[in-house]
Amino acid sequence: MHPNQNPTPGTTQRIPSGCKVANYIPQLAKVSPDHWGVSLCTVDGQRYSVGDTDVPLCLQSCVKPLKYAIAVNDLGTNYVHQYVGKEPSGLRFNKLSLNFQEKPHNPLVNAGAIVNCSLINQGANKAEKFDYIMQFLKRMAGNEFIGFSNATFQSEKETGDRNYAIGYYLKEKKCFPEGADMVSALDLYFQLCSIEVTCQSGSVIAATLANGGICPITGERVLSAEAVRNTLSLMHSCGMYDFSGQFAFHVGLPAKSGVSGAILLIVPNIMGVFCWSPPLDRIGNSVRGIHFCHDLVSLFNFHHYDDLRHCAKKLDPRKETRETQHKTVVNLLFAAYSGDVSALRRFALSAMDMEQKDYDSRTALHVAAAEGHMDVVRFLIDGCKVNPFVEDRWGNIPLQDAIKFERHEVVKLLTEYQETYVKRQMGAETSEEQMSLENLESMV
Ligand code: GLU
Repeated sequence: MHPNQNPTPGTTQRIPSGCKVANYIPQLAKVSPDHWGVSLCTVDGQRYSVGDTDVPLCLQSCVKPLKYAIAVNDLGTNYVHQYVGKEPSGLRFNKLSLNFQEKPHNPLVNAGAIVNCSLINQGANKAEKFDYIMQFLKRMAGNEFIGFSNATFQSEKETGDRNYAIGYYLKEKKCFPEGADMVSALDLYFQLCSIEVTCQSGSVIAATLANGGICPITGERVLSAEAVRNTLSLMHSCGMYDFSGQFAFHVGLPAKSGVSGAILLIVPNIMGVFCWSPPLDRIGNSVRGIHFCHDLVSLFNFHHYDDLRHCAKKLDPRKETRETQHKTVVNLLFAAYSGDVSALRRFALSAMDMEQKDYDSRTALHVAAAEGHMDVVRFLIDGCKVNPFVEDRWGNIPLQDAIKFERHEVVKLLTEYQETYVKRQMGAETSEEQMSLENLESMV
C-alpha cells in the first residue's frame, strides 16, 4: 500500500522527508516503507483490521514491556525492582547509563530489558528460556501468530556492539542476579527483539493487557493484575522513547514502540491496538503510528484525562444507549433460554451484569431454571454467584420456576445454592468479590 495514497487507517498525511525505515541491520532496512496496517481487538474479543495486518514483523522494543510483565507475573514487583528502576531515563534508549542506585532506569530501555532477560526462568537453559517466553507470548496472543526471524537475530547479535557494551557495564556494576550469565542474557535479549507478530496477533497481546491480563480470545488469565498494572504504568511514562512525555501529554495512553515501526497501544478496559508502518521519525517512533494515535484520541475520549467532569465531549464507544442496554438483556436471556454457556461466559468476561432483568423482571437464572439447563444454572451460580432470590413480576424466584416445570436436578441445585448464598450474605464466606472472580476464572 502506498503511504501517500492510503485512505485508511486514520491518516493520509505524507511521510516527511528525513523519516526513514530503520537501517542498522539489513533485515529492517529492506522492509518496504509502504507497509501500513492497524488491528484492534476489544476486551470482549471483537476484531477489526485495516491494511497490512497479516504480514509478520519483528517486535523489537515492543517486546520489552511484555517480558517485564512476564517477570513481574512470575517473580512479583518487589523482586523485579530490586534490579531495575521505574523512572523515565531522560536519555536515549540505548545509553550506557544507570540511575543513582546503579540500576537500569526502567525495564523499557535497553539496559533494563537486558537485566530483565536474566530474571526470567532463572536456572533454565537457553533453549528452555526462549521456549518459555514464546509460549507465554503465544498465550497472550490467544494462540495466534508468534514467529521468530533468525536472520534478524543473527544480525542483531553481529551488530550489537552497543548492547554488548551495556552488558559489560551492567556486569561491572553487578546489576545481574547472582549466577546469571551476562552473555546469555544478551543472547536472549537479541532473540526476543527478533520475535515476530502480525498486527492481528499483536492486537490480541495488547488486548490482553487492556483486559487486565485475561486474553479476550481464549478467556485464559495469562498475566496477574499486578503485572499488568505495573506494565501499563511504565508504558505510560517510558514507552515511546524520548517522546514519552509528549505522548503521555497528547495521547494519554500506555504504549510501546519499536524500531520495526510497530506501536503497541493499550486503551485500558476497552481494547488493544497494534499499528505498523516502518518509516520512523527522528526519535525512532513510527510516523504514521504516532499520527494514528493522535487521531484516535482526537475523536474518542480515550485520553486518560478525557473522562474528567465538564471536559469537552468526544465520542465514547462505551456509552450504552437505552437500545443497546435493551439488546444486552435480550441476548443474555436468549443465551440462558437456549443453553448457550459459551455466550454467557463471554458476557460475564466482558463485565456484563449477569443479574439483569427483562421487562417482566425475569433474570437469566429464572429462564435457565425453567428450561432445566443444568450447565447454565451451574455457570450462573458457581461462576457468577448471581442472586437466586430475585422475584419476577409474578413474585416467583428461580427455584419456584424449576419446581413448576419439574426440573428436579435444578431444584436440588438451587435449594443448596440458596443456603450457601444466604450464609455468604451473612458474611460466613471471605471476600465475595474475590471469590466470584476466582470462580469465573476457574470456569474459563
Ligand atoms: N534491537 C534494538 C536494540 O537493541 C531494539 C531497538 C528498538 O526497537 O528500540 O538496539
